[in-house]
Amino acid sequence: MSRAGGFPPAPEPLAVPVFDSHTHLDITIEEAGVPGSPGADPVEALIAAAAGVGVDRLVQVGVDVASSRWSADLAGRHGPVLATVAVHPNEAPRLADLDEALRAIEALAAQPRVRGVGETGLDEYRTPPEGTLAQQMAFAAHIAIAKRHGKPLVVHDRDAHRRILEVLDAEGAPDTVILHCFSGDAAFATECVRRGYLLSFAGTVTFANAGGLRAAAAVTPPEQMLVETDAPYLTPMPYRGRPNASYLIPLTVRALAAASGTDLDTLCAAISATGERVFGPWKG
Ligand SMILES: [Zn+2]
Repeated sequence: MSRAGGFPPAPEPLAVPVFDSHTHLDITIEEAGVPGSPGADPVEALIAAAAGVGVDRLVQVGVDVASSRWSADLAGRHGPVLATVAVHPNEAPRLADLDEALRAIEALAAQPRVRGVGETGLDEYRTPPEGTLAQQMAFAAHIAIAKRHGKPLVVHDRDAHRRILEVLDAEGAPDTVILHCFSGDAAFATECVRRGYLLSFAGTVTFANAGGLRAAAAVTPPEQMLVETDAPYLTPMPYRGRPNASYLIPLTVRALAAASGTDLDTLCAAISATGERVFGPWKG
């Protein structure tokens, strides 16, 4: 995907603060640089840009051992940042020693500012059939780590809705399951809601061809809804194709409020309350 054109302008600020449930600051900085003045600390610039529009907290998501370690360290130093740790499902089949990586993830999961295990899951789009077994083993191992540490599981589901539910059923789901970048239709959303899972919607909900996703949002109660960027990817309309960052969350949460027929301020308050409950407080 091309992300030419630089960071989009800041949207109108939110009246009630909300948080970004899934972002990759490291990949954003590597691929797109920093919004605003050159020379500023890139992480602080991204946090400040988000806070400026009412996105006052975020969850930084690790995708391999190195980025998970980086995420955990960052969360230890920045009050508005919590971390999750994992080996991404597209990364797991490529590792020479998956067990060693999983031991490192387990150790990181014990840290107090690490508040989730993920992103983990299944990706039938990008992983060839010979990687399926390693991917499934890694998913099962992350589920076990989440349960041992009593932390939410952040699930990556790409073209694998049915198998995701099968593995969760077979292994036994942790208390909190978050379907990151929810991509199912209203029927799959209804099934996930019934299981008590949280559905995290990304900028894709703003895309013109995303009627199914908006129908999914319409059947998801505000208490089971989260909002995310998955930055630097999935930039909401009208800026699709340009780099994404947490300060663009207002565009997505406004689309989500419209799709679900929920008052914007009420939705932001509900999302914030859910975040503080499942990830634990950002402060302290
Ligand atoms: Zn992600």
